[in-house]
Amino acid sequence: MISEKMKEYVKNGSAIRAMFEEGKQMAREVGAENVYDFSLGNPNVAAPESVREAILDIVRQEDPVMVHGYMSNSGYEDVREAIADSLNRRFGTSFAGRNIVMTVGAAGGLNVILKTLLNAGDEVVVFAPFFGEYRFYVQNYDGVLKVVPPDTETFQPDLEAFKKIVTPKTKAVIVNSPNNPTGVVYSEETIQKLADILRQKQKEFGTQIYLISDEPYRELVYGDVKVPYLTKYYKNTIVGYSYSKSLSLPGERIGYLVIPDEAADCQEILDGVNVATRILGFVNAPSLQQRVIKKCLEEQCDVSYYNRNRELLYEGLKKAGFSCIKPEGAFYLFVKSPVEDEKAFCEAAKKYHILIVPGSSFACPGYVRIAYCVAYETIQRALPYFEKLAEDFGCR
Ligand code: PLP
Repeated sequence: MISEKMKEYVKNGSAIRAMFEEGKQMAREVGAENVYDFSLGNPNVAAPESVREAILDIVRQEDPVMVHGYMSNSGYEDVREAIADSLNRRFGTSFAGRNIVMTVGAAGGLNVILKTLLNAGDEVVVFAPFFGEYRFYVQNYDGVLKVVPPDTETFQPDLEAFKKIVTPKTKAVIVNSPNNPTGVVYSEETIQKLADILRQKQKEFGTQIYLISDEPYRELVYGDVKVPYLTKYYKNTIVGYSYSKSLSLPGERIGYLVIPDEAADCQEILDGVNVATRILGFVNAPSLQQRVIKKCLEEQCDVSYYNRNRELLYEGLKKAGFSCIKPEGAFYLFVKSPVEDEKAFCEAAKKYHILIVPGSSFACPGYVRIAYCVAYETIQRALPYFEKLAEDFGCR
C-alpha cells in the first residue's frame, strides 16, 4: 500500500504529462503529422554540435576514472570555478567556485535548496501563473505554498498583493523569469520594487527571506530584452539555473545553484545544500555532464528558431481572433480562453488534434498555455485548425 500523500498525487496526476501521453496515443491513431502537440516544454532544437562533440571528446580523451567517478557532493571544483568565472564575466558579479553547487537540473536544484531552508510550516510565496511543480517541491519539505494572484494585464508580479501575503513565517519567495507559462520577462523596475519590499519585510519581522530565482529560460529571450541578474538587487538571492533549455539537454539533468557570499548564513546554506544533494539520493549531479558544461559555457541552442516560431504563432493566433500578450522569452504563449472554463476549451481543441494545457495547471484559470518548442511546420499546419477553433468559439 502506498502512502496517502502519494495516492493523492497519483490520483491528481500532471495534466501536462497526461496530455503528452494522450498526444502519443493520438499519433498512433491518426498519424504523428496530424497531431499538433503543444503540451510539453520539451525543446525540439537540437543541442549545439559543440556539446555533442564535447561529450565524445571527454569520453575518448579524459581519464575515465575521473569522468565517471564520484566527486564532492557539490560537484567538480574546476567546473564550479569555470561557471563562477563565466557568470562574473557576463553579469559583473564576483562569485567564486565555492558559491556554485552543481544540481540535477532546475528541479533538482529547487528541491535541494527547499530541503535545506524549510522547517515544517514555513511559507513559500509564488506568483501566479507559476510552474505547477513548485506545489510539490514545497510540499516535499512540509512547507506551505502561498500564491499571489495573477495580474492578467501585464503578467508581472502583483506587488501590492505580495505585500499582504508576506508574513513572519515567509522563508522564501520563488520567481521565474523568463516565465513559464507566460513568456513574460520581469522588468528591472519590478525586481527593484520586489527587493525593496523584501528588505522592508525582513526589517519589520526581523527575519531572513530568501529570493529563489528559478531561471532555466534565462538565455531564451528575443530582441534586445535584458533579464536582470537578481543577486545584484537583493543580497538574500539564490539562483537556480539549468541547461535543460539553453543547451537543449533536459534529459541529461544538469544545472547549478548560486549561493552568494552576501546571502545570510551563506556557509551554513552551502553546507546544507551539499548534504541535501547527498541525502535526497542525487549524491551528485551527473559527472559526464558536468565535464561537458565546462567545455560549453559560452554555447547556447539556436534561439532564432524559437523566435521564428513565436512570430508565426503569435501573428496567426491574433489573426484568428485570440488574445494574448507577446512573449519576450521562453517558448510559451499564454492565450486567453474564449470561454471561462478553459478546460472545456482545451477539450474542444482536441477535436482538431490540438493539444494545449489549461491555465489552472499554473494557478491561472481562464487561460491556456501553448508550448511552441515544436517544428515550424507543425505551427504552419496547425494554424488553419486554430482558425476553425476560433470560429467555433465565435472569436471573430
Ligand atoms: N522551472 C521551470 C519554470 C520550468 O519550466 C522547468 C521545466 O520545464 C523546470 C523548472 C525544471 O527544469 P529541469 O528540467 O532543468 O529540471
